Amino acid sequence: MTQQPQGYTLSEPPAEPSAQTGCSACLSLVVARQNARSRGDYSGVSDLNVKLRRHQREAH
Ligand SMILES: [Zn+2]
Repeated sequence: MTQQPQGYTLSEPPAEPSAQTGCSACLSLVVARQNARSRGDYSGVSDLNVKLRRHQREAH
């Protein structure tokens, strides 16, 4: 089981965050997400979405 972030419900997953132009941290997370999806690692994809949202909340 993966840990659920607080404040989210499972009923309606939020849209995937996209990279902010010019931010290398965003870009590396998005590239890692694409890699995870391309190998069928969907738990990795959702994990990276959580990281990307947290990064954007803290850094932007
Ligand atoms: Zn960023």
